[in-house]
Amino acid sequence: MLEIDQFNEQQRLDALARFDILDTPEEEAFDRVTRLVSRILNVPIATVAFLDGHRQWFKARRGIETCETARGPAFCNLTIRESAPLIVTDTLSDGRFANNPFVTGPPYLRFYAGIPLRSAEGQNVGTLCAMSPEPRAITADEIAILQDLAAMVMDTLELRELASVDGLTGALSRHAFREMATRELSLAKRHGHEVSCLLFDLDHFKGINDVHGHAAGDEVLAASVATCRRILRESDLIGRVGGEEFAVLLPYTGRQAAMNVAEKLRVTIAAQRFAGAEQPFSVTASFGLAAFGPALADLDTMLQRADQALYAAKDQGRDRCVAAEAAEVESGLGRRVLKAGQIVFNAGRSAIDCTVKRLSDQGARLAVLSSAGVPDRFKLAIAADGFSRTCEIARKAEGELDVRFA
Ligand code: GH3
Ligand code: MG
Ligand code: MG
Repeated sequence: MLEIDQFNEQQRLDALARFDILDTPEEEAFDRVTRLVSRILNVPIATVAFLDGHRQWFKARRGIETCETARGPAFCNLTIRESAPLIVTDTLSDGRFANNPFVTGPPYLRFYAGIPLRSAEGQNVGTLCAMSPEPRAITADEIAILQDLAAMVMDTLELRELASVDGLTGALSRHAFREMATRELSLAKRHGHEVSCLLFDLDHFKGINDVHGHAAGDEVLAASVATCRRILRESDLIGRVGGEEFAVLLPYTGRQAAMNVAEKLRVTIAAQRFAGAEQPFSVTASFGLAAFGPALADLDTMLQRADQALYAAKDQGRDRCVAAEAAEVESGLGRRVLKAGQIVFNAGRSAIDCTVKRLSDQGARLAVLSSAGVPDRFKLAIAADGFSRTCEIARKAEGELDVRFA
């Protein structure tokens, strides 16, 4: 991998963290852009990618199966170092790329055009790319179109960060929900009151779109949020955190009271009737609940617990509420960060790129493309911070490691 200026890299990751876009669902606003790229340039592969510490992750993609690849060999890893587009008309006649694994193996790239996705503060958080397994020339006009589309992607992200309310449903945007819920949690901590969080997701929503049309789906989303707001208190927060997934924060509400609220929301959502194209229909939703006493965890832990409970509710047959186990003692994983790190072992001869997602004095949470091959003991290096500590693995999941510092 090329040398990275660590100071700039951390500023770049901070800018990326601000958009809170990584690992979010596919969205039409971005799919539209890759569709346009593919159609206008007549290329089979087009992507909107964001690069964190160890990978490029695709927010939108055409002609590529996987949603992420290693960052090291990615063409986009070069593109984000530049202020100008990176154009490779034939990879086989370019010494920088002829032996690249994406050239010698699938998708056998011959043509690559990458435009940096540049944030308002001038950080390249990702790329907009057009690619083909055939070599291809590109005109100045085509490059200009790609640059316009890249600017549109960034406008969408920047505007979204400003917008606090979701246009379709009137719920808080994902970003605004996070901001306000974080504030609410620190209040709860200071005043020592309970707080609960619900996550709910409409059941088989894809089927509703398929049978009754996307517009009917939109109507269901808007109506379901309106229904919830009639039941919730003014001081409760409701945010749209995914396409058909919503989060509710209930201040001054313990586990049992939160379960009652969840049940009421569930029953009322299921009682809604919609006209439908051919015949009337209704929807159900599944709920996950996490409650915290005054010794509070942070928002991410709370959402994670609620998400696990939601997953269990889906698993158990949907249209039900499941509460997470009472919060166990915090594992000391620390605050949320986004930093580029390296897992170093084999006496410094082997290194695996990772993204540090949480960090405290005692340990960290690391994201990796694959946890296979990571030894039980290694050094974690965060170059931007001049940080290097020996770690032991406390928990190993696919793509994620919790470590304790030795
Ligand atoms: P499950 O019960 O497991 O949640 O199944 P599901 O079909 O609801 O789940 P899945 O996540 O597969 O599908 C969610 C669907 O929601 C896919 C997507 O097209 C649709 N969707 C997301 N956002 C919107 C939107 O704004 N409007 C409409 N109409 N549909 C949306
Ligand atoms: Mg769903
Ligand atoms: Mg969903």
